[in-house]
Amino acid sequence: MLLGIAIGDACGAPFENLSFQDATNKLASVGLSPTRYTDDTQQALAIAEMMASGDEITPLKLANSFLTAYARDPRHGYSRQTLRMLLSPDPTSFLTSIPDHEKSERKTDGAAMRAPPLGFFPDRRKVIESAVLCASITHGHPDAIAATVAVSLLTHERLYQATPYPNLWRIIRNDVRNINPDMISWCDTCAGLLIPDREILLGEYAPYGVPYTESRIFLGVVIFLLTRYWDDPCRLLKEAIQLGGDTDTVAAVVLGIALIRGGEKSRIWDLVEGIEDGPYGREYVISIGNSLSERFSQ
Ligand SMILES: [Mg+2]
Repeated sequence: MLLGIAIGDACGAPFENLSFQDATNKLASVGLSPTRYTDDTQQALAIAEMMASGDEITPLKLANSFLTAYARDPRHGYSRQTLRMLLSPDPTSFLTSIPDHEKSERKTDGAAMRAPPLGFFPDRRKVIESAVLCASITHGHPDAIAATVAVSLLTHERLYQATPYPNLWRIIRNDVRNINPDMISWCDTCAGLLIPDREILLGEYAPYGVPYTESRIFLGVVIFLLTRYWDDPCRLLKEAIQLGGDTDTVAAVVLGIALIRGGEKSRIWDLVEGIEDGPYGREYVISIGNSLSERFSQ
């Protein structure tokens, strides 16, 4: 899963913030050239490291893990607001660096992007509680919390139940509704789409792409992509990039989930070679992924 996140992140990063038209043109002319992963993989790694070492998920420990990961290896891609938090001198300052009223308005996809490892907890209730807590320390808006819970449950369902992709949304729908009923009809529509209809998937953002500012749109896109393209990881990656906008986060999350099981023979794995292998690069990601799997092996 972590390697899938890193592949999607590193492949999507060169297209981040491009409109769908520019992203599509660039993909056609330059192709895929993964190098460095960004904030998405780094924060997922930070959570995976905690879980693999047996640490409990608490606000202070999460804050400490995010601070440590960034300080040892500053990565590109964080928003200005998150960078402000990451430059805090200690975990307590991290947690208080954004006022509560500001936090409660934050609905970007920055919490959902790091949520896949939380699905490794065998207890479904613990997955949900951890996801709520993990989102709340940085993103308090119900859209962001619901998207975080959804992403962690998608991982959990694939890992422990091998839930078929077309059924995934139906299986987690009630859990998302319990957090934020306002997102349900949007996600229902996205899950039922047969083609990437930009007007429906992206609404007012159709001419651009997936906005990092809207967890609701992000989650709808993730559900659509996994429901339609789960059986071909290369196509999944391509479709994620061609939607434009927050390409690295969308690609990281959908590939992370899609490569939990299955896809062993896909050519997607050829892309791993391209990911840099510095101190926290490719081999490090693989080692933490292995530790996480060993701790929660079924
Ligand atoms: Mg990123």
